[in-house]
Amino acid sequence: MTEKANNPYLDLFKKQKANSINVSNSTYNQRIKKLNALQRAIEFTFRNDIIDALKKDLGKPRVESEMTEIYQIVGDIKHAKKYLHQWMRNKKVKTPLSMLGASSYIKYEAKGVCLIISPWNFPFNLTFGPLVSSIAAGNTAILKPSEMTPHSSALMKKIVETVFKEEEVALVEGEVQTSTDLLNLPFNHIFFTGSPTVGKIVMKAAAEHLASVTLELGGKSPTIIDETANLKAAAKKIMWGKFLNCGQICVTPDYVLVKYTVKSKFIEECKIWLNAYFGSRPEASDSYGRIVSQKHYKRLLEHLNDAKSNNGQIITGGESNEASKYIAPTLVSDLEEAASLLQDEIFGPILPIVTYNTLDEAIQYIKNKERPLALYIYSKSKKNIRKILNYTKAGGTCINNNIIHYANHNLPFGGINNSGIGKSHGYHGFKAFSNERAVVKQHTFGITELLFPPYTNYKEKLAK
Ligand code: NAD
Repeated sequence: MTEKANNPYLDLFKKQKANSINVSNSTYNQRIKKLNALQRAIEFTFRNDIIDALKKDLGKPRVESEMTEIYQIVGDIKHAKKYLHQWMRNKKVKTPLSMLGASSYIKYEAKGVCLIISPWNFPFNLTFGPLVSSIAAGNTAILKPSEMTPHSSALMKKIVETVFKEEEVALVEGEVQTSTDLLNLPFNHIFFTGSPTVGKIVMKAAAEHLASVTLELGGKSPTIIDETANLKAAAKKIMWGKFLNCGQICVTPDYVLVKYTVKSKFIEECKIWLNAYFGSRPEASDSYGRIVSQKHYKRLLEHLNDAKSNNGQIITGGESNEASKYIAPTLVSDLEEAASLLQDEIFGPILPIVTYNTLDEAIQYIKNKERPLALYIYSKSKKNIRKILNYTKAGGTCINNNIIHYANHNLPFGGINNSGIGKSHGYHGFKAFSNERAVVKQHTFGITELLFPPYTNYKEKLAK
């Protein structure tokens, strides 16, 4: 054991470790019971508390909380319950002729004690979503939500303590030091959702114990709009996907690459939809949220200041209110490439619009940056769509839409390299929390025994 003796979470970790073999051998019915209990807590017992906590932490409108947190987790649970039997079953695989006399299968077994570290932007969804997969796979888990959303974290702790025994699921609140202490413990799997910078810290800590990792990270997710796109439909979806949760979404369109010939028309459509969604004063709209903290509010204002010194033209928005951490839905164009809005993940309600001349140029622009978590394509041209799909890499893609791939439980969700390692959701999440154990069962004399030493007398061996 390499964990430090004075680690404040050592006792909790040891309790879970001692219990993990029982949980690992839990039956389908026992796991369903746990999923049902979690579902009841979220869907009924604590539903209004969840909405209140999100309002306090993020100013989230009720409908957004219902749609992106409660509905999403309940959907994850229902999907897991529907398929768990099938997922848990041993999977028979073929056995080569050279191994005649044996059969083979994959046994899905729990990894053991898991650590789930989550961010603040969808606190419930991104903490309980991975927990659903962890329970389905038969693990014990310690959860560490973000310190940035304290009302949500405190409520999640209450939910966890109501539903689970601490030797199967526990939640600890805290800041970086808490994460660091937890990361010093020899977890069997670490599921981290957050920034690429912290993802690297997590991966280094995991390397100390050779814990497996799932890293759900972020970055700059581009949106390409070509000259064939339905601009009205594109603007409608992008103005929704960008300003939902005030752009504080890992898969939000980070920037738009639009063909120069259709830029003006696209911008006009964006203004129409912004007005339709949030009115002429988004600050007064109860369909528009707030920035999570003063730190992030200031970070976003710095982006806007930097944009001004990099030739940025504010097309619409730009207004802010420090007291309420409000930043208007903002569109910016004509930025110099050095502008921080084109370099860093924005994670807020500011959308840079960049023009391109040829599709090759747009593709190259994307390839010059880190591989994104999501890449969106608005086009009616099959040729252009195919070209973008074939010459770029991304964790996921929507064609003529954005964000919604996240909500399909049948698709793997995750990034590639800088935007993440490993996949989650549905069966892919179950697999992330499972060890695929290779099992070969020998039934009769195996033909491979002919190859045992001494390497002669084959006829005699066969005769035996
Ligand atoms: P973050 O990386 O700052 O924090 C995430 C978690 O890590 C928090 O619980 C935090 O307490 C902890 N943490 C922070 N610093 C740490 C350190 N030095 N050592 C150990 N733990 C530490 O991320 P955030 O600001 O909470 O969230 C925003 C980021 O998360 C964005 O990059 C976004 O794209 C990404 N994100 C990704 C997904 C996804 O599913 N891929 C979903 C949501 C957010």
